[in-house]
Amino acid sequence: MKNSADALQQQVSAGQSEIARLRTDLDRARGEALLDPLTSILNRKGFDQRLAALLQQPAAAGRQHCLVMLDIDHFKQVNDAHGHVMGDRVIQGLGEILRLAVTDPEHAAARYGGEEFAIVLPHSTLADAARLAGQVRLRARAMKIRNRSTQQVLFTVTISGGVAALRPGDDAQALIARADAALYQSKNGGRDRISCA
Ligand code: GH3
Ligand code: MG
Ligand code: MG
Repeated sequence: MKNSADALQQQVSAGQSEIARLRTDLDRARGEALLDPLTSILNRKGFDQRLAALLQQPAAAGRQHCLVMLDIDHFKQVNDAHGHVMGDRVIQGLGEILRLAVTDPEHAAARYGGEEFAIVLPHSTLADAARLAGQVRLRARAMKIRNRSTQQVLFTVTISGGVAALRPGDDAQALIARADAALYQSKNGGRDRISCA
């Protein structure tokens, strides 16, 4: 009887470790589902979740929830002239710039799609959001894409950005549309600049 009780206990323990292992795997898979594999920053799904959660809470007094949208300038030409592998390296480089520039744990950098990126800034100001976007713009234009064997600089890129703050009655789409409109102002104004809505 003691033997079968021991055996049962062993089975229970093994079952518990298996559950713990599966739980860890599930947590990791859930986290990975929100990350962009090329840049390791949030993907569109992660971005949508962050923004939706943010809209549930009011901004702190005197502050606003802000959104920065960024887009690489003339990126199609990079692919056409240097190939998609090189284009991917540029996207990775910009992801790295965002990862290093967006240091506030409340802020979130995401790859919105293709060559478009976003930064969510809860409880911020339009001026602070524009300042961060400006830093990213300067770092992007300082990035040098080199030939890996010769180290020769092959080309550089610029980005354009739009900044918007959440207004009463806004949903996520309205905020994104306003940041996008500001981004297109930057494009029409000659690119390599940040505009505020
Ligand atoms: P603009 O300055 O107006 O933004 O011009 P653009 O050329 O950057 O914009 P357009 O929308 O014409 O082209 C975007 C290009 O981005 C087209 C698409 O092939 C490329 N692209 C999107 N996602 C990826 C990707 O993951 N890797 C690579 N290499 N290219 C991508
Ligand atoms: Mg684009
Ligand atoms: Mg572009």
